[in-house]
Amino acid sequence: MRQSRLFTKARKEAPADEVAKNAQLLIRAGYVHKEMAGVYDYLPLGLKVVDKIKQIVREEMNAIGGEELIMSSLQRKELWERTSRWSDEVVDVWFKSELKAGGEVGFGWSHEEPIGEMMKNFIASYKDLPVSVYQFQTKLRNELRAKSGIMRGREFVMKDMYSFAADEASHLAYYESTKPAYMKVFKRLGIGDDTYITFAAGGAFTKFSHEFQTICDAGEDVTYIAREKGIAINEEVLNDETLANLGVRREELEQFATAEVGNIFNFGQQKAADLGLMVKDREGKDAPVWMGSYGIGVTRLVGVLVEKFADEKGLVWPEAVAPYAVHLVALGKPGDDVTKAADAFYEELAKAGVETLYDDRDMSAGAKFAESDLLGMPHRIVVGKEAAETGRFEVVTRATGAVEKFGREEIIAHFAHA
Ligand code: ATP
Ligand code: MG
Repeated sequence: MRQSRLFTKARKEAPADEVAKNAQLLIRAGYVHKEMAGVYDYLPLGLKVVDKIKQIVREEMNAIGGEELIMSSLQRKELWERTSRWSDEVVDVWFKSELKAGGEVGFGWSHEEPIGEMMKNFIASYKDLPVSVYQFQTKLRNELRAKSGIMRGREFVMKDMYSFAADEASHLAYYESTKPAYMKVFKRLGIGDDTYITFAAGGAFTKFSHEFQTICDAGEDVTYIAREKGIAINEEVLNDETLANLGVRREELEQFATAEVGNIFNFGQQKAADLGLMVKDREGKDAPVWMGSYGIGVTRLVGVLVEKFADEKGLVWPEAVAPYAVHLVALGKPGDDVTKAADAFYEELAKAGVETLYDDRDMSAGAKFAESDLLGMPHRIVVGKEAAETGRFEVVTRATGAVEKFGREEIIAHFAHA
């Protein structure tokens, strides 16, 4: 991508009303645009990050048998009444509206009810199970406070998966399999070491739900973690009973600010019983399906990565999600040898399939470097006079500032396989 053609431009200032570091940086770098509090547009650079995170999540959900679909945003009131979740007293984040033709609809903040109802068309007997389906969906939630930038949106992308099983054993086995799958996602995003499976409230069948909490100063949650033992407890369930249950002493736990990047729920048979989602078991008797639901905050993760890795110069993307692997920065004037060498190298990189953002604009070196730091690609390749003459280019690693020189072939061989 030639930067001269990128319609977004970096800017010095974020909007005065934006208080979150993640959104400030993303807006300044042209990754997102703020529509209003808690509502953001994803511009080409930001969309690439979101898509890369989605692809990682998709691969790991497919690996445990998930099938991708996409449910509607408009939802029927009656379905949520069945499980007593239509009321604003029970669910305080509903956006609702009225149809001109009459009747009320809700905007999807979650999808257990419609997905369970939809499944009635496909699940009749234990032979149709187990099934696991997931989607990437823009959820709408009327959040009271939206001060954490894209980490708490009123509109945000979630991956939500739902599992259906005929018996307890296969249900529990699936529930357990999602934990390592989730951890693989967080590891691939570079936050595996700081992310803990956390005992939290919201259990239905089981006493706890399991959250995935990532240590992050900008996170809104408080988690108590025994790092050695790998035990983490959300403050909302930190009490003597929980400690005894988990075999951990209060003194072993350290308090951290964390961001909830995922949450999994075991509903047992209750949800399906409420919804009337039944299957015939081996004896031909009707029984409610065993259900679980499994969320990951895709756009919240973008914010967490910004908060954790950005430095005073700007964004720093892990290689796995960076919009471009390489930022090629040319320091020539239009038509000179430096520009010609940079153009030629850009074409070579593109041909080799290296994702490259090419700063081909006529600007000062200082301004280009500052903007390159702000945009945060993992590697910057500089084409100046010396590089144009020798064919050896400076490669700067954004995260460490390390500078090394490499020849064209070496660079292409390295990044083409990255
Ligand atoms: P929170 O406690 O932060 O409000 P939640 O427990 O209500 O989140 P879930 O219903 O468990 O959220 O949703 C699954 C995942 O979606 C969460 O683990 C989180 O990563 C993400 N998520 C939830 N609400 C938001 C939001 N307003 N903006 C961005 N991501 C969100
Ligand atoms: Mg949650």
